[in-house]
Amino acid sequence: MKPTKHKRSASPSQRIKMHILGSAGDVSGSLFYFEYSSPEGKVTRFLLECGLHQEHEEINRQKRLPKGVEAKDINFVIISHAHIDHSGWLPALVKDGFKGSVYTHPATKDLLDFLLLDSGRLQENAADRVNRFIARRQKKAESNGKKKRRIPLSVPLYTAEDVPLCFPLFKQINYNQLYTLADGVTMRFTEASHILGAAVVTVTIGKGEDQRTVCFTGNVGRPNTPLLKELTPVKHADYVISESTYGNKLHKKRDRLEVLADLINKAYARAMQKDRNTGCGVIVIPAFAVGRVQTVLHDLRTLMLAKRIPDIATFLDSRMAIAATEVHRKWASLMNDETRAIFESGQDAFSPPRYLECTTAAQTNRLYENASEPVIIVGSSGMAAGGKILRHLEKRLPQKNSTVVFVGYQGTGALGYDLVNKKPSQVTVHGKVLPVRATIEYMSDYSGHADYEEIIAWLSKFESKPRKTFLVHGDGGALEEFKGHIEKALGWSVVVPQRRQCFEL
Ligand SMILES: [Zn+2]
Repeated sequence: MKPTKHKRSASPSQRIKMHILGSAGDVSGSLFYFEYSSPEGKVTRFLLECGLHQEHEEINRQKRLPKGVEAKDINFVIISHAHIDHSGWLPALVKDGFKGSVYTHPATKDLLDFLLLDSGRLQENAADRVNRFIARRQKKAESNGKKKRRIPLSVPLYTAEDVPLCFPLFKQINYNQLYTLADGVTMRFTEASHILGAAVVTVTIGKGEDQRTVCFTGNVGRPNTPLLKELTPVKHADYVISESTYGNKLHKKRDRLEVLADLINKAYARAMQKDRNTGCGVIVIPAFAVGRVQTVLHDLRTLMLAKRIPDIATFLDSRMAIAATEVHRKWASLMNDETRAIFESGQDAFSPPRYLECTTAAQTNRLYENASEPVIIVGSSGMAAGGKILRHLEKRLPQKNSTVVFVGYQGTGALGYDLVNKKPSQVTVHGKVLPVRATIEYMSDYSGHADYEEIIAWLSKFESKPRKTFLVHGDGGALEEFKGHIEKALGWSVVVPQRRQCFEL
């Protein structure tokens, strides 16, 4: 499809352009560029989101900004939430010369303090892997008597050392307050109910009757999301940019705690069947460090205190998840009434009765030993794509009395995806082929994304019809089906933009 240009309705003296530069036709690399030329002739350039492309990593190294625009030309960046596909390109932008302000919620900044560093380390590891591969191939070619060919070494997009350069640029934005970011540009954050600090971003650009308001959902969570407050309604926008992760799917509407209680009780009964060689079974819960780990801990605590499941010793074994849990404690004021009340009564909503955060190697190593009683180990990554959880899986997958509970989205290619969807009899972990004898469970109930009915219920609270709604952050099928659902339910005009498409607002 050829990029279309919408008829310009702004006055000749004022222009607002929006370039869709990421999360168009897929679910990664969120990036939108806005250019506002004021009637006085002043040009303001800003980015909404600065996401790293995690599916097609080569895009991160391409020229992502519009033709003729360099990093140093951008006046400021707005970031809706801490997930790397919305924030992780920022160190690359700073490395390229961006020196403006980065507007985000202070809780998001606290999460980014370690998430961006981790992303830097991942970039370094990826480059190392490529370079080791190149070295092996060169060595092989040489030993076969072939002429040495110089292959350029892979350089990380950015390193952990580059990341701290971003931190002084951050400016904090609280929910429900109006901020002036530049002459003719104001913005408001409202609760997105997706992860801690996540915001729906409403930006108003321009002056007088040609002023335009753009509402960007970022990622929005489900009604009654655990821990967080409810998604705030927005009443007016000329343009809406909506995520579409579940644009063609509906979540199972069921009692999450009941499902978890049933599953843990069954896992506990299995774990009590002591094996002569390996001891009791273990319940391993791989979960995303930010949001998911804290929700699982909160739910386990709730069920244990209500005696709906036994008081099983629970260990959190992930450096990142421990850091994220600490940030959640710091921001208890942002939580929903139920969670806030727990903290206000002097208790910790994330600590089940027998709970330990593993901060030393000795504590972690003890968990690799045979278990004398059933225990729960929570850790990241949520898709078992890396991290300490892999060693726990290496030990527990071959055990018939152990259970692995996946609680989040599983991307193709990850070990979690294979275990949940392919039910393999054996898998390879750390180069070792292991039999899968443990019971594998999956709960989709912890999704941080609203489904299409839930987003439409939120959109239906707009008091006036937007001129246009753009659908992003979804794969092909989800985007097209979501377009149909919105058109049918609300009669709105909906566009599924392509990457690098430009619109005049
Ligand atoms: Zn997100």
